[in-house]
Amino acid sequence: MNTYARQPVAFVRGQGVWLWDEAGKKYLDALAGIAVNTLGHNHPRLVRALTEQIGRIIHTSNLFRVPQQEAAADRVAEITGLDEVFFCNSGLEANEAAIKVARKYGHDRGVKEPAIIVMEKAFHGRSLATLSAGGSRKVQAGFEPLVQGFVRVPLNDLEAVRQVAAHNKNVTAVFIEPIQGEGGINVSRLEYLRELKQICDANEWLFMSDEVQCGLGRTGKWFVYQHAGFLPDVVPLAKGLAGGVPVGACVVGGRARGVFKPGNHGSTFGGNPLAMTGVVTTIDTVKEESLLENAGRVGDSMLNNLRNALRDVAGVAEIRGMGLMIGIELDRPCGELVKAALDAGLVINVTADNVVRILPALIMNEVEGREVVERVAPLIKGFLAQGSAQPKAAAVAR
Ligand code: PLP
Repeated sequence: MNTYARQPVAFVRGQGVWLWDEAGKKYLDALAGIAVNTLGHNHPRLVRALTEQIGRIIHTSNLFRVPQQEAAADRVAEITGLDEVFFCNSGLEANEAAIKVARKYGHDRGVKEPAIIVMEKAFHGRSLATLSAGGSRKVQAGFEPLVQGFVRVPLNDLEAVRQVAAHNKNVTAVFIEPIQGEGGINVSRLEYLRELKQICDANEWLFMSDEVQCGLGRTGKWFVYQHAGFLPDVVPLAKGLAGGVPVGACVVGGRARGVFKPGNHGSTFGGNPLAMTGVVTTIDTVKEESLLENAGRVGDSMLNNLRNALRDVAGVAEIRGMGLMIGIELDRPCGELVKAALDAGLVINVTADNVVRILPALIMNEVEGREVVERVAPLIKGFLAQGSAQPKAAAVAR
């Protein structure tokens, strides 16, 4: 179907943070398949583990024990600090599971029509429930009637949450991307997250942290909630979890532990030996190569270098982010920068119409990070200097 406005480039080979197209042209990859290729391209350890697994067995079924899934669940429980994991195949599925957990949690407590507090500008996926939970009218338009049971508030606004708490007794959960990715790299204040958690505790709501894009080490810790210093009840994951093999996971603990019973949820492919080998190898490699520290250090220096390179440039509204999740907001739509960057041998993305998004692999080193800045800053300056204020369609985000 005609669902993507694709760029006229096909990458056929990758190595580390570098890509080559069909014509042999080389690109610096500052997008990592939209936060998927945690270990970059062609990481020898991931390639070896996956190849060996394919040679033994690719898929069995959740009708049987899957040892690789047990190993992956142990790893995910350890890095999240939570207790139970359901494996699926994508971010939206992880979020569907989270929404079901919140509803089941409500029903178990006698709430007949459970409601979930969600955030403006959020993106949780494109299934009916997840697009209804999201805050983008563009994503929802044409797919009404929406799924009911979501109450929307602005990000970083505790008073709005308190108002809902006072008036809506059906609320059972808060669902938040602690750094909104598709919405334009909108960062929650850590103090806001901590107070939001306190509101959840006071009301016995679930705190559900969608870390599909911002999680898995990108910000310098495994998860954004770890910067804030508390444990959520539900953490949906996907994207970078298996280094490029499709996977999702809904991880629960705290008040959400034990909510799902046999028969409440399931997936044919979810947690199969191939994907689980990707999970185990990705997590082990991030640890052994100290990639959390790397992401924090390289991300900080990229952010600083970008701020220096674009200081006082008219048209740059804000540069923000955490670790290797960086957004450069311009004062005008800038989708055409994606093609200009490709022409200059750089892979970036534009989201929310006017935010240049940088999401490199966690293996990106300081030199490569500097090169991203050296390539992207002149493009942005050149684009702004043209004075092109014509509203353009945004680059497709996924
Ligand atoms: N949640 C967040 C925060 C995302 O960024 C995305 C995808 O961009 C999703 C959920 C949906 O993930 P998927 O495209 O794997 O369904």
